[in-house]
Amino acid sequence: MGFLTQRTMSLGAAIAGSAFLIYSIFNQLSFLETTVVPEVYLRRTALALGAFFFCLLGGWRGARLGGGAVFSGVASVMVLFVSVISGSAVTGWFLVQYAAFCFFLYRMDQYYENQIAAHQVDSEKYHNEKNDLENSYKLKGEAISIFFEKYSTYYNLRKLAEELATTLSVTELSKMVVQKTSDFIPRGDSGIISLVDKSGEKLSILASKQIKPRARISAKEGDVFDLWAVRNRKRLIVSDSHQDFRFDLKETMRNESVRSLILAPLLHEGEVIGTLRMNSRDAGSFSNDDLRLLDAIGALAYSAVSNAMLYEKTEELAIRDSLTGMFLRRYFFDRLKGEHRRALLTGRPLSVLMCDIDLFKECNDRFGHGVGDMMLVRFAKILSEGFETGVVARYGGEEFSVLLPETSKEEAAKMAERLRDRVENNDFSIRRERIRMTVSVGVANFPDDSLDMQSLVQKSDEALYQAKRTGRNRVCLSGA
Ligand code: GH3
Ligand code: MG
Ligand code: MG
Repeated sequence: MGFLTQRTMSLGAAIAGSAFLIYSIFNQLSFLETTVVPEVYLRRTALALGAFFFCLLGGWRGARLGGGAVFSGVASVMVLFVSVISGSAVTGWFLVQYAAFCFFLYRMDQYYENQIAAHQVDSEKYHNEKNDLENSYKLKGEAISIFFEKYSTYYNLRKLAEELATTLSVTELSKMVVQKTSDFIPRGDSGIISLVDKSGEKLSILASKQIKPRARISAKEGDVFDLWAVRNRKRLIVSDSHQDFRFDLKETMRNESVRSLILAPLLHEGEVIGTLRMNSRDAGSFSNDDLRLLDAIGALAYSAVSNAMLYEKTEELAIRDSLTGMFLRRYFFDRLKGEHRRALLTGRPLSVLMCDIDLFKECNDRFGHGVGDMMLVRFAKILSEGFETGVVARYGGEEFSVLLPETSKEEAAKMAERLRDRVENNDFSIRRERIRMTVSVGVANFPDDSLDMQSLVQKSDEALYQAKRTGRNRVCLSGA
């Protein structure tokens, strides 16, 4: 029933009205010759006029001005026809009134058309304004969210700086830095912090963090990317290591676990002392924003790690002898105290060696203090190589003590003997002259020789004295 719209119905009414009008006019005409009762005549004329207006209004309503004009034309011609045939001026007057009415309708139509056009312009204007406002709100909303993102990043960086200041242990700090880096940039598979070694050619990994289970961190050293940053002193972003011609593709293609990466150098006075990086198995995992963030974390990490390193170095200086690099006597006693307490609790053995270079004074007198110092350094080196698990300290002068936790007297004696042998057979030459170096060692053991810490040291000293007395270059056991 879609064709039964208001418009088609109006037009249908107009056509029906016109048809009825035509019929009425011809019907009227047939009465002209006859005598008609005035009532009937008037009724018919009223019906014809009704049809006339009906077709006009229907035409107007159905097809606006054009339809009105067409149906007006048809109706006017009909009325004019009747007027001419009947010779009556009444219908002529009727036409004049009708024209005035049409003119009035036409003006009204124009007026409303203008009003509608003005409203349309207004509504378009408001629509545009609404769109502009919506756009500006959208832009402002985006700007606000970017601002908040930046603000939260800076806030988190500040928090990170505060957290990094809470510890002075290099190991702990490094772990914290990679952990935080992965919190800040969760897109990567793994985070790694490395330090350049003394040669400046290699980097050793200080700490690493596996963010995703698929990450594999098997390397202990930095790779081509770290070395690139060290050489170029620049940060680095690699979107696809298999297509980056800055690097040896044969080498980078081999490593499937590093397809893309970002890397920030840790800079100290223009030199790269280490790197902070994130790896991903997928290509294109990182953006330049990620790299900038990593760089900011790297700057914080650098100052925290270098502070901690300085602190650890200072601490080391306080507990180590500057000439030989061995621990000082004070540190030896600190450790002895701890190990003694542990031995008391666990019942495990604990041995102490007291070592003294034989006739060292003669060497000093003959070759000078410089050579004496060199001999001390050499002796300390042999000691530390021989007792990697023990605590070796410079007890004083040319006397060194060794603390051996969990070591029986027999084992300690064997180790002391091996030391004596190595010192004796060590090739120490000055100006092509081989200088003889021997050592005497005293061994005491917990619980065999004493349960008391102080007397354990004293017993080892006594054993050393015994070794000296019985000819030097030998190992003596306490109580033997
Ligand atoms: P012994 O076999 O009985 O131990 O004889 P020794 O000559 O080794 O023993 P003594 O205690 O008589 O001499 C130790 C010397 O070590 C005395 C001191 O001048 C020297 N000495 C101590 N500390 C240093 C040092 O740091 N450098 C040098 N060059 N000599 C030192
Ligand atoms: Mg001596
Ligand atoms: Mg001595």
